[in-house]
Amino acid sequence: VIASTILRNARIADGAEPVDLALAGGRIAAVGPALAVPDGATVVDARGGVVIPGLVDAHCHLDKTLWGRPWQPHAAGAAIEDRIRQGEARRAELGLPSHDGIHALLSRMVGLGTTLVRTHTDVDLGCRLDGIEMVAKVAAELAGAVDVEQVAFPQGGLITRPGTAELLAAAIDAGATVVGGIDPSALERDPVRHLETVFTLAAEKGAGVDVHLHERGTLGAFAMELTVELTEHFALQGRVTLSHAPAIAEIEPERARALADRLAAARVSLATATPYNTPVLPIAMLAEAGVVVASGNDGIRDLWGPWGTGSMLERVHQLAVRSNARRDDQIHQALATATDGGRRVLGRERVELAPGSPADLVVLPTAGVPEAVAMRPAPSYVVKGGVVVARDGVLV
Ligand SMILES: [Zn+2]
Repeated sequence: VIASTILRNARIADGAEPVDLALAGGRIAAVGPALAVPDGATVVDARGGVVIPGLVDAHCHLDKTLWGRPWQPHAAGAAIEDRIRQGEARRAELGLPSHDGIHALLSRMVGLGTTLVRTHTDVDLGCRLDGIEMVAKVAAELAGAVDVEQVAFPQGGLITRPGTAELLAAAIDAGATVVGGIDPSALERDPVRHLETVFTLAAEKGAGVDVHLHERGTLGAFAMELTVELTEHFALQGRVTLSHAPAIAEIEPERARALADRLAAARVSLATATPYNTPVLPIAMLAEAGVVVASGNDGIRDLWGPWGTGSMLERVHQLAVRSNARRDDQIHQALATATDGGRRVLGRERVELAPGSPADLVVLPTAGVPEAVAMRPAPSYVVKGGVVVARDGVLV
């Protein structure tokens, strides 16, 4: 095996003695002290930094971003419906979706360690497939540095907007791989019909499912139970994700645990953005029940809100703080949502710091993970498919 990259002086566990990693053919070829450098290999020095799997943003909205522009004061009302209206009313005036904005944001995300992305792209009667095509174009331009998967997302509704389901089908034909949905009761007023439409389309197209579920308390828990039933009915185990799903943090603990057991049995995963004052997902309980949880930034500097920098380390920091994490193992559990959890939600092979593993890696300038989550430094190196794609936070 001819190594293409030798990563020197990297710690593969908190505080461990630094070792070298040889990367070849997109994978880790060898791990050990003082590895020989084959002819033609690139050598980079991790300077004792800790190496972790490439970060995964499993829930964002690249098509909505205003990244790279002057500050845009938030002007939408307080309800989700207000933000939907605002987004649709102003996108033409603001030139959204914007190729340059998406390119700048995605480049920054890679610089900050993200090597795998699931983005929810608006598909509706107004913008049709414009966003799907724009995101696919930018993803192709940055291929090799990051993998981007699109959810065809009916932001403004599906049942309440006839013609949208046909556009979602066209979006899947155009390259999106996941069918989206949103608040089947609160927004759509017809939960069974909404979710059945989403699942039927996914089953027909061989796509996954990822439903935005902002619904709270028992209403949200009902939608989660319905999702489990439909996942089993359509045999889509392992292909279904519920995004946000704060309800499981709000219902009685016994019912929450029973619901978690059902999610785990049907292999329905959750994706959290840990936003604002919404209750945080109980990640320890969910891990114990065997529910896969991923993390994402959700909107990054857009008409839905002013926050987000594109950093998944920052998002993990927020999740850890809001989960009352203090111990190292709790901080690792929060980080795992942005590494293993994200890769499982996106159906990708696990990254392990051992020979044979995919070489999607991030080197952080700290001797361990907990300190990196606390300090949120820019990565020293980001490695995608065994090749250094970013250094000190910037694409190379
Ligand atoms: Zn979202």
